[in-house]
Amino acid sequence: MDLESFHRRSIEDRDGFWAEQAGLIEWHKPFGKVLDYSRPPFARWYVGGETNLCHNAVDRYLRTQPDAPALHFISTETGEERSYSFAQLHREVVRMAAIMRGLGVGRGDRVLLYMPMIPEAAFAMLACARLGAIHSVVFGGFASRSLASRIDDARPKLVVSADAGSRNGRVIAYKPLLDTAIGLAAHKPERVLMVDRGLAPFESVAGRDLGYAALREQHLGDDVPVTWLESNEISYTLYTSGTTGSPKGVQRDVGGYAVALAASMKYIFCGNPGETYFCTSDIGWVVGHSYIVYGPLIGGMATILYEGTPLRPDPGILWQLVERHRVSVMFSAPTAIRVLKKQDPSWLSRHDLSSLRTLFLAGEPLDEPTARWISEGLGRPVIDNYWQTETGWPILTVAHGVEKTPTRFGSPGKAMYGYDVRLLHEQTGEEVGTNEKGVVAIVPPLPPGCMQTIWGDDERFVRTYFTSIPGRQVYSTFDWGVRDPDGYYFILGRTDDVINVAGHRLGTREIEESLSSHQAVAECAVVGVADALKGQVAVAFAVLRDPAQAQDARAREALEGELMAVVDRQLGAVARPARVHFVGMLPKTRSGKVLRRAIQALSEGRDPGELTTIEDPAALEQVREALTG
Ligand code: ATP
Ligand code: MG
Repeated sequence: MDLESFHRRSIEDRDGFWAEQAGLIEWHKPFGKVLDYSRPPFARWYVGGETNLCHNAVDRYLRTQPDAPALHFISTETGEERSYSFAQLHREVVRMAAIMRGLGVGRGDRVLLYMPMIPEAAFAMLACARLGAIHSVVFGGFASRSLASRIDDARPKLVVSADAGSRNGRVIAYKPLLDTAIGLAAHKPERVLMVDRGLAPFESVAGRDLGYAALREQHLGDDVPVTWLESNEISYTLYTSGTTGSPKGVQRDVGGYAVALAASMKYIFCGNPGETYFCTSDIGWVVGHSYIVYGPLIGGMATILYEGTPLRPDPGILWQLVERHRVSVMFSAPTAIRVLKKQDPSWLSRHDLSSLRTLFLAGEPLDEPTARWISEGLGRPVIDNYWQTETGWPILTVAHGVEKTPTRFGSPGKAMYGYDVRLLHEQTGEEVGTNEKGVVAIVPPLPPGCMQTIWGDDERFVRTYFTSIPGRQVYSTFDWGVRDPDGYYFILGRTDDVINVAGHRLGTREIEESLSSHQAVAECAVVGVADALKGQVAVAFAVLRDPAQAQDARAREALEGELMAVVDRQLGAVARPARVHFVGMLPKTRSGKVLRRAIQALSEGRDPGELTTIEDPAALEQVREALTG
């Protein structure tokens, strides 16, 4: 079938389409109704059906492939490596579930995970799923205040944590951050379960803190049956990255999510049982939930849990892991590829990548030069995919499990099945034409796997996502895009990031893409800055592949001129940045996204605002210095 017909059927015969996809997972009790949409925009999928994420990710494969690898843990930080078959993973998840059950955790209780990338983190997620407890993973190493606000929002009965994580060879002690956070929080968890990696000694709070290793010994042989859940019960809550403002607590269901992931493994990622999936994200992000833990396992694949960076011990480490574990599907982010792009390209060809079929990239716009560089360097197709924490799986991409639609550089692809994607005029709400810019919107109901609501705040869910387009209740992605005559979408940036230069509406992304086409540029960010004459002007911040190129004022000036000329040529003089500043790094969220709003605020002399998810505040200093220097 071709993608277009597949997509059309998913919209026009929604119930039939998704009833069929439901067969990709196992149900304890069949659902009565495919979709209950009696209370728009709230969608309830597979009403009355009973299933369980842990069953579908683990137990199900005990019958067919108990000895196949399920999880490979590699830490290049500590030198540890451990592998688990489906049978072994099952044992560990059941033990973790037994510990939790022993601590009084049951259906509907919240468990907050503040964990590094270690197998116990995946055990804990799956154990919650098994028990029907709601997990809320907070990115390991988040500052105490951010963690405290998430504790207060989730009100967890139990927190699972570890002594420390490690990043770039530096141990980050989690326990002091956690203790401070619990001190700040109004709702204290009853218990804290500590995995001790022996990286950072810590103090235990008597009566509250418990050691995982000792409890595991007590529950070695316990049996914990799967708790069958109605499809619309809550599996987890998770915060968005905080790129545009304060993060939103996304709430997800059980059955719809399982089906959506199973379908995406089949149609989009094309992974097969017995193969290996390697996603370089972190379990603290939605990509980690969907494509480190649940998706690959539901698809019967082994998943790689990697604690480490793309550069240590050398810039070939990711490809070394691909070779060693015969990875067939890989998922990373443009930001990781841009890091590699600053290295010798020969690192891409030092390992046997014959097992690798496709590299998927998501999280940020994938500029054409980066896409070309990695795809040519690896000799493998690269597939961009666009989605959000809110949706849980790709909105725009190509689905080679349906049809071998060619990809286009700069475009994440076409609308995926289940998503009725429209480009709407921001003010009128009318659909814009081909090649015209508009807000990327989705006509509800959102397909299975997407957020049910904002945790604890239905009203905010409706107000935030469904009221920004005038005249109709549609879901806004708050991204800005265009569609070409063949149905390929191009994301131009956040709606907040649209620049209005003397009446011309420009996406920051277009200008960034243009600047990135210059070989000197490793990455860049463009923001709109208020200007008395033109309303706004574009101002660019560029990181160079070789910082020596901006060594002195003369070199900087020459390069700035060259970069402006590139934009002039490609987009026209209106888009030309008023300034191109050179910095050593860009301020990013911990999920690797450029914090344009903070750069913009600094450029306009304002306070940078909410920064709880920033990776390295030193990057803001560099922006400040560049502006004043
Ligand atoms: P917040 O919503 O808290 O401000 P965020 O939007 O960065 O943060 P995420 O859900 O992690 O939180 O990111 C989703 C956003 O990332 C998308 O809305 C889009 O702006 C961007 N994005 C993701 N994938 C792509 C892609 N392939 N191409 C372009 N942009 C992408
Ligand atoms: Mg967002």
